[in-house]
Amino acid sequence: MKMHQFVIIGLGRFGSSIGKELIQLGYEVLGIDRNEETVQELSKVLTHAVVADATEEEALRSLGARNFDCGVVAIGDDIQASILATILLKELGVKKVVAKAVNELHGRVLERIGVDRVIYPERDMGIRVAHQLVSPNLLDYIELSKKYTIAELAVPGCLTGKSLADVNPRGKYGCSIVAINKPKGIIIAPNAEDVLTERDVMVVIGTNESIEQFQESIG
Ligand code: ATP
Ligand code: ATP
Ligand code: CA
Repeated sequence: MKMHQFVIIGLGRFGSSIGKELIQLGYEVLGIDRNEETVQELSKVLTHAVVADATEEEALRSLGARNFDCGVVAIGDDIQASILATILLKELGVKKVVAKAVNELHGRVLERIGVDRVIYPERDMGIRVAHQLVSPNLLDYIELSKKYTIAELAVPGCLTGKSLADVNPRGKYGCSIVAINKPKGIIIAPNAEDVLTERDVMVVIGTNESIEQFQESIG
């Protein structure tokens, strides 16, 4: 199912960042916040921005919240408001509801009331930054499971001019390079002859250990 229309409740730093990015990506976004100044600020950017208390069922109903494909509850500090807004969006029939949690307990409550996805922005970004701090070449990663990861690694200068056969990550560590992103374009499923250059980005798939070993060998 392709998402077209989004409603975002709470236009703090997190909610407004999601909203602005969705607009950049070409989607329609209704932003709701109880703070008038915040709404004023965001009304220049979002498709619509309205002042309303998202814990009031009638307010959400009259804004047509049920017609949205996806709702994001981005209220943090007021946990009660976050929970009420989430329940209301689910009950109004919003197909997918994503909510921000400020701690584990808040997240567990959101899951109990049927939220489709809980996001812990500070916790998750903290984990991500820690990984990047200890591995300078690591640009980004996706955990496929507890054991397997896909990582984006910056190619360091010491690999410039070397082919995949020279570097031999599959032979030495057991991880495979599924793509090389070069300034001129991306090479999907590269082969042994493809050559790396500093600042290329390698997309590597493998076990966590194999990727760590590969990273250490080039870091
Ligand atoms: P962030 O870290 O994203 O800036 P936060 O986690 O500190 O936000 P809050 O500042 O508590 O969270 O809330 C984010 C926004 O949600 C604020 O702009 C606030 O006005 C709005 N908000 C809080 N409660 C409600 C509510 N009941 N209805 C509508 N908006 C609300
Ligand atoms: P393999 O059995 O590992 O596929 P191969 O004997 O078929 O190796 P080539 O495909 O020519 O030989 O590759 C030589 C070496 O280059 C491989 O052992 C591997 O370490 C490395 N290599 C080639 N392509 C990749 C890739 N996409 N990702 C990681 N390493 C690669
Ligand atoms: Ca906050």
